[in-house]
Amino acid sequence: MSPMPPPTSASPAPALDIWGLRLTLPGTARPVLDGVDLTVGPGDTVALVGESGSGKSLTSRAALGLLPPGAATEGAVRVEGHDVLAASAERLRALRAGTVAMIFQDPRATLNPLRRIGDFLTEGVRATGLMDGPTATARAVELLRAVGLDDTALGTYPSQVSGGMLQRVVIAAALMGDPALLLADEPTTALDVTTQAEVIALLARLRATFRTGLLFVTHDLDLAAAISDRVYVMYAGRIVETGPADALFEHPRHPYTAALLASTPRLTAPGGRLSAIPGQPPDLRTPPAGCAFAARCSLATGICRESVPEARPAQGRPEHVAACHHSDRLRLAEEGAVADA
Ligand code: SF4
Repeated sequence: MSPMPPPTSASPAPALDIWGLRLTLPGTARPVLDGVDLTVGPGDTVALVGESGSGKSLTSRAALGLLPPGAATEGAVRVEGHDVLAASAERLRALRAGTVAMIFQDPRATLNPLRRIGDFLTEGVRATGLMDGPTATARAVELLRAVGLDDTALGTYPSQVSGGMLQRVVIAAALMGDPALLLADEPTTALDVTTQAEVIALLARLRATFRTGLLFVTHDLDLAAAISDRVYVMYAGRIVETGPADALFEHPRHPYTAALLASTPRLTAPGGRLSAIPGQPPDLRTPPAGCAFAARCSLATGICRESVPEARPAQGRPEHVAACHHSDRLRLAEEGAVADA
């Protein structure tokens, strides 16, 4: 692992730069995050995908400095050049009020049902002194319009609006401090399909308007494909594949990515059947000796059970990387399928 370069003044700092992040918890035999490298450039949308328990949410929360009790970390997490892991509690509060914001899964769990939406929108920036009351209200009205709502929402309570409208309010609140980085953790899971599509379109539009870097955490590969420039695939606390969204979804080079794609519901699937990934992710109490996916992988051989695969460029493209001893077999299978067609 090479040392992380210091931030330079010549180019804008990435919205998020995670390097070699290793996170261990008391009582576990393997790290819950193990050498995670991930970058979100200014104005970029990056998707982090994987099954439940893969470490996606822990990774995104690390960008806010929200770590589980007793967590020990190595590596670095920088938000627009600011070192989050070394930040004081006061510095973290200031970062969360301005530089980085999060949209959680369930908007109804995010808002206090007894407070008006206007208070919810403005209290964070007023409490940290980022804006005075009139400025905060003007900004709230501007952002409500940007998310397709009008200023009558300021005086309403959460119980008076739909889940879709509430998620728009949460997105507007996240933008109040003009953040460099927006973290969206399964932001559409609690919404119906139509509202999901609206929220995804809204996030894409806001990203373009405000040049906010967006880390989109999801288990839904179709959503990731719809919104992201780049995708990171996570399994058992490691990034196992990353690349530009189109290359990764069209030419997966890690068997786990290929299996996730095969298990995504498709109307055109043969016989209408889903291809489930067999088995379970490895237990935190019993770390595997080699590749963590070996027990579930149809391509596994002896070397897979003995040695942890390093990330290597796939198809000679440095921007597309997979950590698999046999990623060439996926390429050969794909080339064979094209030749047979
Ligand atoms: Fe499968 Fe081996 Fe690749 Fe792991 S290293 S994903 S077990 S082929």
